[in-house]
Amino acid sequence: MTQFPIDKIRNDFPILNEKIRNKPLVYLDNAASSQKPNVVIDCISHVYRHDYANVHRGVHTLSVRSTDKFEGAREKIKDFINAESDKEIIFTKGTTESINLVAQSYGKDNIKAGDEILISAMEHHSNIVPWQMLCEQTGAILKVAPINLRGELILDQFIKLIGDKTRLVAVAHMSNALGTINPVKQIIAAAHDKNIPVLLDGAQAIPHMPVDVQELDCDFYAFSGHKLYGPSGIGVLYGKQALLEAMPPYQGGGDMIRRVTFEETEYNTLPYKFEAGTPSIADAIALGAAIDYLSAIGMDAIAAYEAELLDYATEQAKKIKGLRIVGEASEKGAILSFVLDHIHPHDIGTMLDSLGIAVRAGHHCAMPVMDFFEVPATARASFAIYNTKQEIDVLMNGIESLIEVFG
Ligand code: PMP
Repeated sequence: MTQFPIDKIRNDFPILNEKIRNKPLVYLDNAASSQKPNVVIDCISHVYRHDYANVHRGVHTLSVRSTDKFEGAREKIKDFINAESDKEIIFTKGTTESINLVAQSYGKDNIKAGDEILISAMEHHSNIVPWQMLCEQTGAILKVAPINLRGELILDQFIKLIGDKTRLVAVAHMSNALGTINPVKQIIAAAHDKNIPVLLDGAQAIPHMPVDVQELDCDFYAFSGHKLYGPSGIGVLYGKQALLEAMPPYQGGGDMIRRVTFEETEYNTLPYKFEAGTPSIADAIALGAAIDYLSAIGMDAIAAYEAELLDYATEQAKKIKGLRIVGEASEKGAILSFVLDHIHPHDIGTMLDSLGIAVRAGHHCAMPVMDFFEVPATARASFAIYNTKQEIDVLMNGIESLIEVFG
């Protein structure tokens, strides 16, 4: 096996040279948002310096050029997740907007009073609230499948909850609060047995593992560019073409129409039907650059490297007395959530920051998960392609020193 090119990768991310409080930055808040390589930063600058105009509008050269690049990015995303067609790739602002789109378009058209929407107990608020809103609007019922104390879905109970009234299953591919990777293929197979579509919230999974939507056979897959080393403000909704064709538009405006009169409007074809208004042009193109960058490293190599980091971090964390890991699923991505005896997670975050270490402290937009584990919050170290075992040592030493001071 070739060695993971960690030195080259670290050199590609200029922000890693920052000093925080006179200490080298140790950035372990990647589940919130990851940093950007030069190719992404340069791509944005290049678009605005050389290629920028509105897309799909003009016959002039710059508009054609920017449209080609924008559509080229869609093609790259299609290949990256192995969608069948670029018509299945809808640009959105991010995972949140992608899920809201499905709720308000597919949901409103197909879900009525008394129907059930099934989610899990480990969802991010983005995969809870849009469904609650839809339930309020339609009279549908939100069902929540339980998790166990290791932070795993209880699969047989999940499958039992897929019933005659279920109209949609929406579940995280990987949990942001716990790191759990869910058995989504089994869930999808069980739902499809009853002709029920499945939406996967891929916000956390997409930067950490190869994702093949055809192999998964999911009906919708939502993710954000900013967690995938791309810009914020751009994200993706993948949907199977037949489902998207049948769905009404989510928003009205320019670009999503074919012909407008005051009497009626004929909508555009896919994917434009769901892309009302001027999109985040440079950000979409730069997301394409991020995907090129990751593809050159290889998602399998990334998954293997990050698994090594997580194993090492878990092993080291377990040696620290008074530290409890929250979320110990057997299938886990590169996230380590933890609490310390007698020290509030916010104090952990603040103390670690004074050592140059960025971790997230809070409920991670997953308050029901915190309630389940009976903690107000956790501290969360989340790893990315540019993190190292040395950085994990810095984190663990930092934790030990704050236990010494406060514990
Ligand atoms: N789902 C999960 C699992 C997430 O981790 C996040 C981001 N923390 C989201 C949804 C929402 O993503 P965004 O804020 O980029 O829309």
